[in-house]
Amino acid sequence: MVRRILMHMGPSVGNYRVMLAGVAENVGFATDEFVLAMKESLHGVLEVMGGDDSYLPFIIPGSGTAAMESVTTFLRRGDRVLVVSNGLFGDRWMRIFERYPVEVDSLKATPGLTVTPEEIASKSGGAKYRMTVMTHVETSTGVRAPVAELIEAARQISELTVVDGVASVGGENVEAVRWGADVVLTASQKAIGAPPGLGLLAVRRNLLAGVKGEGVSGYFLDLHNWQPVMEGMLEGRGGYFATPPISTVLSLREAFRMSGEEGLENRIERHRAVASRIADSVEGMGLGIVASPGLRSNTVTGVMLNGLDMNAFLSGCIGRGVEFASGVHPVLKGKYIRIGHMGWVNQNDAAAAIAAIRGTIEGMN
Ligand code: PMP
Repeated sequence: MVRRILMHMGPSVGNYRVMLAGVAENVGFATDEFVLAMKESLHGVLEVMGGDDSYLPFIIPGSGTAAMESVTTFLRRGDRVLVVSNGLFGDRWMRIFERYPVEVDSLKATPGLTVTPEEIASKSGGAKYRMTVMTHVETSTGVRAPVAELIEAARQISELTVVDGVASVGGENVEAVRWGADVVLTASQKAIGAPPGLGLLAVRRNLLAGVKGEGVSGYFLDLHNWQPVMEGMLEGRGGYFATPPISTVLSLREAFRMSGEEGLENRIERHRAVASRIADSVEGMGLGIVASPGLRSNTVTGVMLNGLDMNAFLSGCIGRGVEFASGVHPVLKGKYIRIGHMGWVNQNDAAAAIAAIRGTIEGMN
């Protein structure tokens, strides 16, 4: 049997210390043990998102999509929302907002590129948006958007800015305060390297006071229901709105501890070094990279197969012990694969990935 390496989009390369931290007996959600795990993890959320005391961190059951949908807490009936989409996960924002009584407008990039600040500025024509949403790393292409510049442009036309950092937080520089983002969100299972099951957010505190009772969100994802629980946990008090996935939080806390031991800057550099080695190697083998130079993320690499059959390529790599993800952008479907390099990924995984790709190409020729 070959040892399996999962370089998917998350759960990413796993870690036993993180997983085993979740194996604990009789930890109730009101126990000191759990409250402490939440408190530490909430601080961890703020740190990896570059937030400070002006942001309230949230850890809610669900996944990245739950965290995305929870921003409907800040929308009122009839509000206008601008979706800045660089691919499939940018488009997911549209699918979400279409379910609510708000007006949705969008800007879309061709795959491999990003919507530009100038395109956002061109939306100014008097129209004022309540909220502009964008994706830091677009997982369908591996493009990292220049979020600081996009937010600067968006703030001219929009009251609020929201950043989907599901594929970036923990593996890229994320700077809520410096960017001036009102909400940054992510999920537990990607670059943070915990099991799936949690949506994580940093929300500017003044926003929570602004729309109480008027938001269009449903009951479960109304962040006002979670707010007192998070505030209490930060002060060391247990609280309940809905039952949290306790073991997943214990694992998340361990992931943040390990991230602290490594140092966030080192962690981001580790992701960058793995990404650049993979990109250099696949280009050296004559394959292409979906993201344009300058827009390549630390966490996801889309690899153009230059005519090789995608399914045969993926199976060839699985046979060599490394599983990648298929390419999902509708425009490039079947023509590329995606390599996830997040969480606990290291240079050994990169070497294994490169060897599997090389062996597969040789086997197909
Ligand atoms: N946004 C981005 C950028 C993502 O990559 C993903 C997951 N691939 C999501 C949102 C949705 O997250 P989840 O699958 O955890 O709901």
